[in-house]
Amino acid sequence: MAGEVFSLTPRKVEPVDTPWRRIGGMFPVPESLPILERLRRYEPASMAGQPPVVWDRAQGCQVHDAWGNMWLDWSSGVLVANAGHSHPRVVAAARDQIDHPLMHTYCFATDVRSQLVEALAGVAPQGLDKVFLLTTGSEATECAIKLMRTRGLAVGGRKKIGIVSFRHGFHGRTLGAQMAGGVEALKQWIVNLDPAMVQIPFPDGFRQVDTGFEVFERSLAQQGFEPSQIAGVMMETYQGGSAAFAPPPYIQQLRAWCDAHDVVLTFDEVQAGFGRTGRFWGFEHYDITPDLICCGKGISSGLPLSAVIGRAALLDQFPPGSMTSTHTGNPVCAAAALASLRVIQDQRLVEHAARLGGILLAELRRIQTRFGPAKTNPIGAADARGLVATLQMVQPGTTEPDAKLAGDVVRRCVERGLLMFAPVGVGGATIKICPPLVIEEPALREGIGVLERSLQEAIEESAA
Ligand code: PMP
Repeated sequence: MAGEVFSLTPRKVEPVDTPWRRIGGMFPVPESLPILERLRRYEPASMAGQPPVVWDRAQGCQVHDAWGNMWLDWSSGVLVANAGHSHPRVVAAARDQIDHPLMHTYCFATDVRSQLVEALAGVAPQGLDKVFLLTTGSEATECAIKLMRTRGLAVGGRKKIGIVSFRHGFHGRTLGAQMAGGVEALKQWIVNLDPAMVQIPFPDGFRQVDTGFEVFERSLAQQGFEPSQIAGVMMETYQGGSAAFAPPPYIQQLRAWCDAHDVVLTFDEVQAGFGRTGRFWGFEHYDITPDLICCGKGISSGLPLSAVIGRAALLDQFPPGSMTSTHTGNPVCAAAALASLRVIQDQRLVEHAARLGGILLAELRRIQTRFGPAKTNPIGAADARGLVATLQMVQPGTTEPDAKLAGDVVRRCVERGLLMFAPVGVGGATIKICPPLVIEEPALREGIGVLERSLQEAIEESAA
């Protein structure tokens, strides 16, 4: 499905009317076509990858169009709306800031920015008490690369500039983030790949069966690197394309290896942070503390904001005025982020995500088992932690991705009022489930029912 354009030809679909989903009977909705066609005409083709739903309003875990249709949202707008879409407290905070009025200050001081950086340092592990606010997740990972390498140069000279990351890892779509990522397709246009950026297999237990830490050391050596040449390791807490976590002992050994070789360890928590995995930070599942944390997406539940949180020795490497950005800590975004953080804490959304995550995992495993033993099962892997889950659709008995089947499942779900983004991950064959953390159990269960029926139909049709 990656890169595939969803059809704009309306088709008759089954009408749906439940408390969470309402679909009138045609999809795409005929009245939405002028908008969709205008976007296709004026935007790059790359923007046409999502199911053709024209968002008009979004609240809580629901997305509405302007023609009476309503979707139960399992996308969180790509894992952003952790506190729910348009949470009243987040909306009020942003509105108050605009009405004040104060919309922009560059790096000039504001009270709201001071409160946000203090609050973020307050939720980070001890010792990680400096916070640099940026706008996108890619900027945060780019910044982490710069901080890791600058420190490597300072302590080890030009020999210590290696940046290690993981195969199939995703850190964003800017140049450095793409080079540090492990998605080969994203690097094909880059003429001079950074020779000191290296990727190691991610120990997911599915595509990389041997999950021992020796693989990390061996792979590094095979690619011509000594530990002393490495400035930093950057990893997604779970691989965004699969919701796969590494085994905790692997990460604990990685932490010890970084300490032994004076290497900075960065966790890219752009997806995993702010309660998504049923812990406030995803790395808590590994019982380790990184040196740098990259945040984005769910940090504000809606407005563009990101952050790098870390040790002062790393964040303070650049003198005043030399590590900044135009929109650093924009006051409206900062107000929204502060409100969103308080909502996550006050509504105990982390605990809620952990509890519903247990149900989601059990249900996905049950559904996977329904489709038979591994050698005939098109669901190659089912992973879930908190409220992020994935189903990897494969050619049965292999790890070969089946993008067509995954896309067909997503299309059927969307036509039934369950909103998901297009499949992601290896070969674009991973169905990703990531509702706002405010979703209630009955809504989650209703969504699981829709997914199960859509899987059944898509699998039957592809086998026919
Ligand atoms: N890191 C991870 C783990 C991500 O999932 C993403 C976005 N999907 C990014 C970085 C990049 O964030 P952005 O799209 O805001 O630049």
